[in-house]
Amino acid sequence: MKVADRVAALPAYLFARIEQKIEELQNSGVDVISLGIGDPDRPTPPHIVQALKEQADNSENHRYPTSVGLLAFRQAVADWYRGRFGVDLDPRSEVVTLIGSKEGIGHIAFCYLNPGDIALIPDPGYPVYGIGSALAGAENYVLPLTPERHFLPDFGAIPADIARRAKLLWLNYPNNPTGATADLEFFQSAVSFARSYDLIICHDAPYTEVTFDGYVAPSFLQAEGAKEVGIEFHSLSKTYNMTGWRLGWAAGNPEIARTLGSFKSNLDSGAFQAVQYAGIAALEGPQDCIREMRQVYQQRRDIVIEGLRGLGWQVDPPRATIYVWVPVPPGYTSLEFAELVLEKAGVVITQGIGYGAYGEGFFRISLTIPTERLIEAFRRLKEAFGAFVFD
Ligand SMILES: *Cc1c(COP(=O)(O)O)cnc(C)c1O
Repeated sequence: MKVADRVAALPAYLFARIEQKIEELQNSGVDVISLGIGDPDRPTPPHIVQALKEQADNSENHRYPTSVGLLAFRQAVADWYRGRFGVDLDPRSEVVTLIGSKEGIGHIAFCYLNPGDIALIPDPGYPVYGIGSALAGAENYVLPLTPERHFLPDFGAIPADIARRAKLLWLNYPNNPTGATADLEFFQSAVSFARSYDLIICHDAPYTEVTFDGYVAPSFLQAEGAKEVGIEFHSLSKTYNMTGWRLGWAAGNPEIARTLGSFKSNLDSGAFQAVQYAGIAALEGPQDCIREMRQVYQQRRDIVIEGLRGLGWQVDPPRATIYVWVPVPPGYTSLEFAELVLEKAGVVITQGIGYGAYGEGFFRISLTIPTERLIEAFRRLKEAFGAFVFD
């Protein structure tokens, strides 16, 4: 059966080779430790689970939800933005509920991109941005994120003819995979750039609450004029350990929110209402679970930075996210190095090339495994490699 061109053109799955190796090793009895996946290992806080249990019993929630979501959930999102960022949102017109933010991130491309249009995407970056535009028939223009620029894109380096053809600009801070953060001044410069070229800014912000050392991440919507040019995607997934629940939102410009909502109404019928009520419990309930989550990841981050130091690396500790982004030792590609680490230590790391061409030369360590496994992973790395030599 011949698949459609758009499916045939999807990029080859970069982790296939590693996954095959993992399976072979496991079959031969190796206890593989994965530092690969960015998926919180800790459970959803009990008061949120309890809210789901209660709402699951209510038969009104057994029917079709609306695709833009319960007003009560959108209201909870608006209240949360007001309290957390000082940003005012109209829950009726400026918030759309999503079945996990990935859903909206993929679908927004179809709302605004025609064939021949351009999306500006960060590289390295979350693959969904570029895949959405490619599926919509548009082109991607890569914005390199480099350590020299603290993993922030250089708007001045984008050729004017590209910027004129571009319709969407993707940003993501705190950033996956680099762990980089952006301040309000950067978001302000993004708003100016978007205004000059009539672009829509899509800011993907699932990690604003996953922060360390007292750092408080801003929302893009705090920038002056942000709501005129853009929308922010957010999610319960990382903040409340709810990746499996599939609940997120898009908030910001009312015209973009309406367009995304009406596009969605043609394809999906919204998130399970009981899950949305659990989302309200998450946003409105006690927030000490967030403090605990930060403590756990910060401790793991410190174990990773310390472990890397013992292996010869000098890496600045990231102030946010569940990732540490590390340069590959000289002489290896990121894939070669990931394969070597898997073979020699039974530890999975993610090759940077999986996040785009500018991810080459790096690998990603995720903090979402139990702390004692993380310690064991670094013990094995030390045993297998001693120390790497950097110039
Ligand atoms: C985890 C993540 C998401 C969010 O995913 P959900 O679909 O809301 O679970 C979005 N963007 C990035 C960069 C992520 O790492």
